[in-house]
Amino acid sequence: MTFARPRVVVSRCLGFAHCRYDGSTISAPEVRALEGEVEFHTVCPEMGIGLPAPRQPLRLVGEREPRLVQPATGNDFTDPMRRFAERFLSSLPPVDGFILKNRSPSCGIADAKVYSSTERGTAIARRAGMFGGAVRERFPDLPTEDEGRLTNRPLREAFLTAIFALATLREAEASGRMKDLVAFHAWYKLLLMALGQARLAELGRIVANAERLPVPDAFRRYRVAFQAALARPLRRPSAANALLHAFGYVTDGLSPGERAYFLETLAEYRAGHVPLSAPVGVLRAWIVRFDVAYLADQRLFFPFPSSLLSPADSGQGREPP
Ligand code: SF4
Repeated sequence: MTFARPRVVVSRCLGFAHCRYDGSTISAPEVRALEGEVEFHTVCPEMGIGLPAPRQPLRLVGEREPRLVQPATGNDFTDPMRRFAERFLSSLPPVDGFILKNRSPSCGIADAKVYSSTERGTAIARRAGMFGGAVRERFPDLPTEDEGRLTNRPLREAFLTAIFALATLREAEASGRMKDLVAFHAWYKLLLMALGQARLAELGRIVANAERLPVPDAFRRYRVAFQAALARPLRRPSAANALLHAFGYVTDGLSPGERAYFLETLAEYRAGHVPLSAPVGVLRAWIVRFDVAYLADQRLFFPFPSSLLSPADSGQGREPP
């Protein structure tokens, strides 16, 4: 199976340059591991507004509408950062996702500290940084993660699944052929089923194109609905149904013990005792063993290059179902 190459915007300090406030860079192995398969577009918003590295640190100050200020100088960089974000984000080519530096008052996507003043003191809240917030606002349905959350295996795999799906869709869009949209939908059928029958049905109607929309319009409608579907976490009951459906394709070749083992693993998944990768891993082995072409094409089982599979897991962060 070949994979499209996702285009991902990444904070430059995540191993690409020494651009942090103290002139350092951050080793982010979970980001660098993607380099062979992902096209990175790096950005350092603080250097983008003309600040040097090293520099005095910035912080978010103010309870209601926090400002981006530099306590050591009293300078307020809120407006330059807003202008930079607008300019940078509107000049991007189509991208498939973002990986931004966590906790940064500029790049953070949810966990930058907010202070009540420029004086020393404890944080009063956490929220998105000024640039990270602009990304979330402009691209609410594009996969966006920080490097800390990517150390969590389920979160990393959900992110990889989404960026490779969107890159594949982007390639199909570029072809401008309806048959490529039909093929894309076929590859993602079980993944969509795992996200919910309603989503699968809605996307199926767009592909059927009973209204005979021009192909670019059909692609546009499909993308909006597909991104919205991917932006929601998998629900265990829907995912279990999709896996049971796939199980039907291999069950004839299995022994009673193997069937019982799968159904037990699936029940454990439904109950929340094991992650999705447990029943998926079992089915994947049988797909290869029985050479089931239909399932081998399903991105639910092979959503991104196997070179990116990693057993490493920090155990941190929110675990999706
Ligand atoms: S967190 Fe963002 S603004 Fe800060 S150094 Fe990294 S890339 Fe630059």
